[in-house]
Amino acid sequence: MTESTRFIQGNHPAQLLSQAEQVISPALSAQSFVRDLPKNGNFRVGVDLGTAFTVLVVLNEQGEPLIGEYQFAQVVRDGLVVDYVGAVDLLQGMKERVEAQLGRQLTHAASGYPPGVPPVERQATANVVEAAGFKCTGLIDEPTAANLILGLEEGVIADIGGGTTGIAIIENGKVVYTADEATGGTHFSLVIAGARDISFEAAESLKKDPAEQARLFPIVRPVMEKVGTIIERQIQGSGVKSISLVGGTPLFPGIADVIGEITGLPTAVIDHPLFVTPLGIALYDQ
Ligand code: ATP
Repeated sequence: MTESTRFIQGNHPAQLLSQAEQVISPALSAQSFVRDLPKNGNFRVGVDLGTAFTVLVVLNEQGEPLIGEYQFAQVVRDGLVVDYVGAVDLLQGMKERVEAQLGRQLTHAASGYPPGVPPVERQATANVVEAAGFKCTGLIDEPTAANLILGLEEGVIADIGGGTTGIAIIENGKVVYTADEATGGTHFSLVIAGARDISFEAAESLKKDPAEQARLFPIVRPVMEKVGTIIERQIQGSGVKSISLVGGTPLFPGIADVIGEITGLPTAVIDHPLFVTPLGIALYDQ
């Protein structure tokens, strides 16, 4: 990590993450801009090809979020690109819509990969980015990207996404150990679909409905416990003292308490956890 890619001084991470939530939208027509779109100057662009969501985010030179889009798509499984053509089409479309709003072209982007993905598979991610019309300026592992934003000196970052839980141990500000295991929000939706006898898509929306989450808690609690057990096993013997949760799945209330009970460590969800990794990936682009 170089100083130039570290989190931009003077902006609080929670503030940038909240702005990212306002500008990264599933439908660009619903976009609310938090700052003027610049007519010149460089952009920093991040592409996060996730199991559940693909995110494209554009920052200004100062690292502040300008615009972005996220789309549900199953083009990646366990960190591996499983639908190459689908991924390229999806990203090309997102790029074109964002460019139309910006009135400028996006020429380059960085991308990320989950820990443990072999180099050849990382290259597939870079190939998707290039085929969509970007020069791929770099690939960064997702926990290191997350810590560009969080700037933790010590502790554990657990990135609980759609398909997997990524774990990174941080010592002296550096990622010293990473792991990635299957189990994430998709498994929450699968148990809800089974328990309620509804489709996966219906279970996904029910899971995200704040009015339903307390009722669904007993159904998803065993999956939260499984995530806790994965984290506990991965950090055993490391001496870490706290766990920070990022990604989409920590938006389900109560997950930090369950993981805290299983691991015996203070556990908290970062404010605005959804776009920590995509924002970190974009900061890596230069
Ligand atoms: P991965 O990291 O496994 O590749 P991803 O990058 O697509 O997947 P994220 O975007 O971090 O993962 O998170 C997506 C998951 O978060 C999905 O399972 C989604 O259903 C879940 N999720 C998003 N919003 C909420 C919410 N409000 N409540 C509960 N779960 C949510």
